[in-house]
Amino acid sequence: MDKICILLTCPMSEYLQHELAKRFTLIKSWQIKSHNHFLNQYSHSIKAIVANGVHGADSTLIESLPCLQIISSHSSGLDKIDLVKCKERGIRVTSVPDTLTHEVADLAVLLILSVVRRICTADLYVRNGLWKQGDFELTTKVSGKRVGIIGLGRIGSAIAKRLEAFDCPISYYSRSEKPNSRYKYYPNVIELASNCEILVIACSLTKQTYHMINREVIDALGPKGYVINIGRGAVIDERELVLALVERRLAGAGLDVFEHEPDVPVELVGLDNVVLSPHVGTCTVETRKAMADLVVANLVAYFTNEPLLTPVV
Ligand code: NAP
Repeated sequence: MDKICILLTCPMSEYLQHELAKRFTLIKSWQIKSHNHFLNQYSHSIKAIVANGVHGADSTLIESLPCLQIISSHSSGLDKIDLVKCKERGIRVTSVPDTLTHEVADLAVLLILSVVRRICTADLYVRNGLWKQGDFELTTKVSGKRVGIIGLGRIGSAIAKRLEAFDCPISYYSRSEKPNSRYKYYPNVIELASNCEILVIACSLTKQTYHMINREVIDALGPKGYVINIGRGAVIDERELVLALVERRLAGAGLDVFEHEPDVPVELVGLDNVVLSPHVGTCTVETRKAMADLVVANLVAYFTNEPLLTPVV
């Protein structure tokens, strides 16, 4: 029997590709030279897509595949998949929640500690032989700082739990107050920003959260405030963030995600009050394997008529 055809939207791990190839025929979109040739040859045979948080499935791609039945996302952020179109067409969508929560939460704490304690600059201070000329400057403490979290979902809650160990009072903003939460809820972002010193973005990117962190929010946080973003770049108006950092209207930022990845504003590269990482929230061997296993398990479940493990649509 012919194997089912699956489209991969970008190169993913060797492990994932190997596991998929054991069960399915893989069409690798980055190896397709001609779009017309691709459509003629494969458009009626592709039944599934494996997408990730950067290379998703927009309406054009979905429309070009009339036999598409399922999209298995290798990311918990679904902003690059046209979920409305999927619902219209009855295409199932799965993601990989829970497999990555701890790694991303760990990275958020790492960015907080690094930027507030200026650890990258301190590292360079030692490497560049500057220590002999005098002690490194004083920084400020993380323990006890008031932390505001936007999006108290899986990752947001895991960040809050970790920061409780640092005696940080935690507050949050999301679309609704969580009835069982012990953290203080603010009904809007400005109030949250006005009442915290470290603002952590852990929400999904949607039409509503796009550029939610604008000049007003940044100014409410103020010149002693820090922004940490492990959610999605476009939740922040990046131009306003850069201006605020350059003008020192913000104390600093720790950023794993950017508005136009892999492009990073050149001004950020020259600033010593930012810590930058290249969207590595989930980049550990263990987590990437767990994510890959879930991507495959959802596809296998679908094509053997078993219930999906982590359905979104
Ligand atoms: P989740 O459990 O679904 O949480 C999403 C959170 O977003 C919820 O708390 C939700 O709160 C909040 N939210 C949604 N719309 C909102 C709005 N309009 N205003 C305020 N809050 C809103 O997802 P998760 O697993 O924690 O992941 C969160 C995000 O992290 C993902 O969507 C993804 O973009 C990002 N992520 C990044 C990395 C990385 O490598 N840096 C890795 C994985 C995920 P309410 O429902 O209460 O409003």
